[in-house]
Amino acid sequence: MIIKEAKCININIPPRKKVLRTTPGWNTNAIRSRQIARYPEFTRVDLKGDRPGQTDKGWVKVTAEDGTYGLGQFAHGQLGAPLINYFISPLIEGRDVFAIELINDLIWRSNEEFQGGIATAAQSGIDLALWDLKGKLLEKPVYELIGGPSRKSLELYATGDDIEWMKELGFKRFKISNPFYYEEGSEGIALLEHHVASCRDRAGENAELMINPVMSFNTDIALRVAERLKPYNLRWFEEPLPPWNLDGYIELKQAISWTAIATGEHNYGRKSFQQLISKRAVDILQPDIEWSGGLSEVLKIYTYAEAAGIETIPHTGANSPWGQHFGIAMPETSMGEWFLDTDIGEPVGNNLLPGVSAPINGTILPSDAPGFGLEIPEDWIVDWNYKNQKRKIY
Ligand SMILES: [Mg+2]
Repeated sequence: MIIKEAKCININIPPRKKVLRTTPGWNTNAIRSRQIARYPEFTRVDLKGDRPGQTDKGWVKVTAEDGTYGLGQFAHGQLGAPLINYFISPLIEGRDVFAIELINDLIWRSNEEFQGGIATAAQSGIDLALWDLKGKLLEKPVYELIGGPSRKSLELYATGDDIEWMKELGFKRFKISNPFYYEEGSEGIALLEHHVASCRDRAGENAELMINPVMSFNTDIALRVAERLKPYNLRWFEEPLPPWNLDGYIELKQAISWTAIATGEHNYGRKSFQQLISKRAVDILQPDIEWSGGLSEVLKIYTYAEAAGIETIPHTGANSPWGQHFGIAMPETSMGEWFLDTDIGEPVGNNLLPGVSAPINGTILPSDAPGFGLEIPEDWIVDWNYKNQKRKIY
């Protein structure tokens, strides 16, 4: 069976049902810092530290010669679409649909000069569409194709600051936001401590609690934060530094024994993760399946990590069918991340695509339908359209 066509597409998702009596959740209100938050116009509450275009995702459709197709998603859609349509498609059309390793190797080698970031995200979309297609052609769920299941359901942790709401939904583990950027120094640390203390109090003494600074610190501030937060018994300290600061991660890992260091959502490809592993720079790896090269790449990262005694818990894994299939299949992945982006009072998973499972009582189980189990109606699938970025940001 050969690939007839591989292209970037979009999915026209109808507006979701309005739910009455909701209260805006943390995702609307939290000040979340990230690297660009050094500039005050990007820390505004309504922008959540975003930059223009940040949340656009793209889709890939790979169609086999018999008309069966697979779908995959990737980050930075507007930027990755030309790579898919002009560089990757001509490289892979006409090849064996099951030759996923060969296709990935061709893409890595062909995109040598673009590797990392957008190119690796675009490759993720292709890889996921190929796995979806393989599952459909073999009539098996992807988690079976990769050796699962290894558990009956996947335990979740919830990301967000609405602790009471998350508890009500059945979650028992929580990852909270960070409100400051390193230039704010002592004042910022005090603000963060106040936030963590309040969340620890609401979560309960023994609940798993993590913080997520999203690259907002330098090594000095990260060490001071870790020291200050010692009494709050955090399960992990996530991505305090940008991914290029490998020496900083090594320093943190050697200095901090009371909480685990987690990172990886902004690392791309197994070679970047191999450095984190070989330098013993982290305790938990968090590749994003839509950013770091796709399911094939994250399976390799998992294997390197497992052999080194390091756990892999993919970034926002449980919100996507790919992360759900990965988490159900891989024995050393003890939990999945559920990024809580619905409002308080809204059913959890209200914004999911058809065929994608929602959490039940803090656990998740993906569909056992072929491929990733997506049930996207044919008429939602449309050609990719480039959009003009017109949002005024400050
Ligand atoms: Mg994170």
